[in-house]
Amino acid sequence: MRLYNTMTRKKEEFIPLEPGKVKMYSCGPTVYNYFHIGNARPFIIFDTLRRYLKYRGYEVKFVQNFTDIDDKLIKKSNEEGRTLKEIAERYIREYYIDADGLGIERADVHPTATETIDEIIELVKSLIDKGYAYEANGDVYFSTKKFKEYGKLSQHNLEELEAGSRVDVDERKADPMDFAIWKAQKPGEPAWNSPWGPGRPGWHIECSAMVIKHLGETIDIHSGGLDLIFPHHENEIAQSEAATGKPFARYWLHNGFLNINNQKMSKSLNNFFTVRDISKQYDYEVIRFFMLSAHYRSPLNFSDDLMEQAKNGLERIYNCLENLEHLKEHGKECGMSSSEIELSKRLVELKARFVEAMDDDLNTADALAAIFEIVKEVNSNITSVSNSSSAIIDFSYGMIRELGGVLGIAQKQKEKGLDVEIEEMIEKRQQARKEKNWKLADEIRDKLKDMGISLEDTPQGVKWKRV
Ligand code: AMP
Ligand code: ZN
Repeated sequence: MRLYNTMTRKKEEFIPLEPGKVKMYSCGPTVYNYFHIGNARPFIIFDTLRRYLKYRGYEVKFVQNFTDIDDKLIKKSNEEGRTLKEIAERYIREYYIDADGLGIERADVHPTATETIDEIIELVKSLIDKGYAYEANGDVYFSTKKFKEYGKLSQHNLEELEAGSRVDVDERKADPMDFAIWKAQKPGEPAWNSPWGPGRPGWHIECSAMVIKHLGETIDIHSGGLDLIFPHHENEIAQSEAATGKPFARYWLHNGFLNINNQKMSKSLNNFFTVRDISKQYDYEVIRFFMLSAHYRSPLNFSDDLMEQAKNGLERIYNCLENLEHLKEHGKECGMSSSEIELSKRLVELKARFVEAMDDDLNTADALAAIFEIVKEVNSNITSVSNSSSAIIDFSYGMIRELGGVLGIAQKQKEKGLDVEIEEMIEKRQQARKEKNWKLADEIRDKLKDMGISLEDTPQGVKWKRV
């Protein structure tokens, strides 16, 4: 498998440090609000990478943090008169509601900054001991000039950065490019005791401490959105490598940005949408499908048109699965005919195309195209129980479910309880029709329509689907 490594600006063969095992860390949300549709992109993409690595047989340990101390949280807690902990706990719960809906599997560990304070303090201490950081009035700063490779990820050098930046002049810092790894308590702010007095960690240091605590000094994959390359990931590298003397992460993956109708999403432009907002209009699974429809490094535009396309695409896959389920229920057990063996070979080739696409820097757009080719083959060749064996029906059904599972889509089953009720109603309607009780038959049909069920007469009997 090849992955584009931001560190080298090249696609590289992915070889984990320990054969068969992958250690992976992704920067998670700051939990002061519902997460927005832009945030959903890295969460979905890196969940898909994790699923794919598992599919390829790797044992993956995945960690994603919750930032539960920062200025935005403190502001919200003051506005709402609630503690920081209450705010964070609430939005962690909300995160899980949306993430579960989007099919994002839970990480092996979801650490929070507040539960990592001891390790953060130890890390800050060791950076001071090694001469990479210094204390100033209760703050602690990392001295970027001391870390010779500073800028290697973003490919900036310090002189350029200084010349081009509008870094706040802060007389406590020895150098404008230094950054805080520990912040002294300000009035009204929550604080933890430390050797430098009461304070709280800076943002960057929490990820370094959590990576080292849960995954070790060198990990395989570190990921997040493009905006995190500088300064967040650059600073994570500086702190971690200065402290351990070892390479921090071997592959750096960054997703492109999501825009809304070709504009940057922002509250001031009134185009800021949370996933929760959008889930009221579109199924969570449609949102996931939409995110997978483009390559993760490209910019992605969010619009109603594209969401409608995603909805239709997903529906096409589900319709195919439902047809196959229907045939499975009504068909007889038998092996494949010779033309079906040919069909199964074509399907296997398409599956290989799916794998090839995913192997090429997680090209989910081409992987989806391969699934659509499979759907097309199935739709045109497996049309009725009289011309299809149970073996080919099971084979193609299993393949679509399997590949859908790798992408985290097309896994829903019809709700069985409700299905029984619907089928009983259809049965009653059939009976009413037989008895020429058209009024009752129409009433049942209308009732089903209200439930979002449409009926279709086929040679195998009445088929129904949700619309
Ligand atoms: P934050 O909570 O702002 O730190 O963001 C969490 C994750 O979402 C990070 O990986 C960000 O890089 C990513 N992110 C934020 N905004 C966008 C966006 N508009 N498009 C894609 N990714 C984003
Ligand atoms: Zn981070």
